[in-house]
Amino acid sequence: MTMDSTGSSFPAPLSSPVVAPTDPALPSKACRDCQTLKPLTAFGPHRNRADHRSPYCRECASAYMRRWREENPEAHAKIQRKYLMRRKLRSIASE
Ligand SMILES: [Zn+2]
Repeated sequence: MTMDSTGSSFPAPLSSPVVAPTDPALPSKACRDCQTLKPLTAFGPHRNRADHRSPYCRECASAYMRRWREENPEAHAKIQRKYLMRRKLRSIASE
């Protein structure tokens, strides 16, 4: 049994998805915080955005998170608990 001509689920990419960081065609955008133009790979993933990338580069995002965590230790602990709980439930479900 071959999987060759069976379905048209999704087209195979013709060009390699691996792009060198210096490629001028590499999609990039400016960070909303530091205003630096960076490749999309320098931005963290973001579910609810059109380009699925955070408006802030990873450096700014982690700096922001650190600051936010220091200012909101209780809120952070709450999120952390929720996250750990969900992970625990998932690991139980997959066993
Ligand atoms: Zn930035």
